[in-house]
Amino acid sequence: MNEVKVLLVDDDPIDAKLLAEHLSRVRKTKYHLVHVTRSGQAFSHLKSQSYDIVITDYYLGDTDGVTLIHRLREINQSIPIIVITGSDSDEIDEQVMTAGAADYLPKEELSSSTIDRTIRHALERARYLSKLEYLANRDPLTGLANRSMFEEELSRAIAISSRHNHQFAVLLLDLDRFKEINDTLGHNVGDLLLTIIGNRLQKLLREEDVIARIGGDEFAILLQQTSGIDDISLICSKILAGLSEPTPINESSLFVSTSIGVAFFPDNGTSSVDLMQKSDLALYKAKVLGRNKYSFFSHDLQERLHYETTIEKALREDIDRNHFELYYQPKYNLHTEKLTGFEALIRWNHPELGFISPADFIPVAEKTGLILELSDWITETACKQLHEWNNLGASDLGMAINMSAKQVRKAAFFEHLRNFLTQYKLNPASIELEVTESLLVDSSIQNINFFRELKAIGIQLTLDDFGTGYSSLSYIKNFPIDKLKIDRSFISGTHANQQQMSIVQAIIQLAHALKMHVVAEGIETQEQAFKLKHMNCDEAQGFWYYKPLPKDKATELVINFIAQENEQTTD
Ligand code: C2E
Ligand code: MG
Ligand code: MG
Repeated sequence: MNEVKVLLVDDDPIDAKLLAEHLSRVRKTKYHLVHVTRSGQAFSHLKSQSYDIVITDYYLGDTDGVTLIHRLREINQSIPIIVITGSDSDEIDEQVMTAGAADYLPKEELSSSTIDRTIRHALERARYLSKLEYLANRDPLTGLANRSMFEEELSRAIAISSRHNHQFAVLLLDLDRFKEINDTLGHNVGDLLLTIIGNRLQKLLREEDVIARIGGDEFAILLQQTSGIDDISLICSKILAGLSEPTPINESSLFVSTSIGVAFFPDNGTSSVDLMQKSDLALYKAKVLGRNKYSFFSHDLQERLHYETTIEKALREDIDRNHFELYYQPKYNLHTEKLTGFEALIRWNHPELGFISPADFIPVAEKTGLILELSDWITETACKQLHEWNNLGASDLGMAINMSAKQVRKAAFFEHLRNFLTQYKLNPASIELEVTESLLVDSSIQNINFFRELKAIGIQLTLDDFGTGYSSLSYIKNFPIDKLKIDRSFISGTHANQQQMSIVQAIIQLAHALKMHVVAEGIETQEQAFKLKHMNCDEAQGFWYYKPLPKDKATELVINFIAQENEQTTD
């Protein structure tokens, strides 16, 4: 038999008794009735005990039905409330229904069956509503709150914390490289991983913390009443450690890491939009710092963003003008010590902003897609330059050009490159395209084919910055890579030490075994050059030889090179 617990609020003992009798006559449902006479008693009952439904008289000595419904709703959002009135008036009907009552019953219509039916229907509707509410507020995959519920909770926290002068923190979490997992291992694995992450977060945090999944691999957390940065740092470390535990999936273990951005109410923002934006900025910084890190919002960060916006605007305005220039950094054969070619590196000297580093504007150009236009110009300028040097008599020099992720699988890029090769009469093998590891992680057939087609026209492919990304040689096998360029952090970075050097040694041996050439970038001292030579590294580039040079200086170097070569042949 169904059991339903009813809280009856009625200041008239006779009416209450009558209702109790009606309910006791219902056979299919057992009604447990608790009767209180004043609204205050009703509030404390509702706070301390659980009820299925409230039935209340419209006229109570100390308050009226509409106020009562509002107060009850504050205590319990979802409990159905049925209002009983002495008079059957449309006005009262409308009032109580808009205030959120589930139904309204005139006293003269009271009978066992009408009350029973009204209650059953109200409960049914409440159940249905709560299901709808669940669906509207929850992320179906993880069962966590969704974005809209998170924003609602955030607004509530803002209202309460402003009243009580409390501080709280918003954390945004983003799984590092989730897209790659999804793309390579499939969506089922991706979904499973997200569910596991959701569960872990729930275990790592307190019950009163709001945890939400607000996008693909983005989670948001609201930590109420926090005592400050030290507190949050501890929690962040705990989350990072907890989430980076290996995840057993399909008999193997998946390792994921997370980045976290933190913003505080009220110091960093006082509206939900503001707080979400600030924590997103902090998240961005955490990602830049190198993943599996957390970072707090700071005003420097704001400045940085402002700088990026300025760069973006300047890029759009400047893209057709002549403020870009290509510099050329020489590369040398470590054994013969001869010049082998150059790497083309873009420089931007903005008339007002001054010199802007490619490390600053290339990412912005990539984000906005402006890189495509820029890269076309870079490729043509570099090809034309090599053509000029060839005309001077330097037929064996190579030109390395950095390729952007945005150019991958672009037919136009391919076509232009082919045209430049013909137009400037270049030996395709003298052009080296430098790609980064992130471009090769997608080993879909389309991606592999794109690089194979590039290779088929005869150009060389170099893997740039090797060692900073996946550093896995296994996926490289799928791509026709000719050269590895060891990242400069291994060579001249502050962390370059004996251990790094043995890694470098291993990379060189492995690359040679896979029939690839090895270039080391960032050589700043003679000692580094010497060591690399003895490790059998093939080529080198770095400030110790030359910094990237403007066109004229590079041309001088080429002229000297040609003269030396000619001298040797005449000797
Ligand atoms: P990258 O392709 O790895 O280029 C090498 C960077 O290391 C260059 O920085 C170069 O100036 C610097 N470098 C070379 N030797 C040394 C050294 O001995 N010590 C130190 N500390 N640094 C050295 P740059 O020119 O600032 O370029 C930074 C990055 O911007 C490049 O890294 C590349 O990823 C990107 N980039 C530069 N030019 C282009 C371009 O024309 N197209 C595209 N898509 N990206 C470019
Ligand atoms: Mg490069
Ligand atoms: Mg590099």
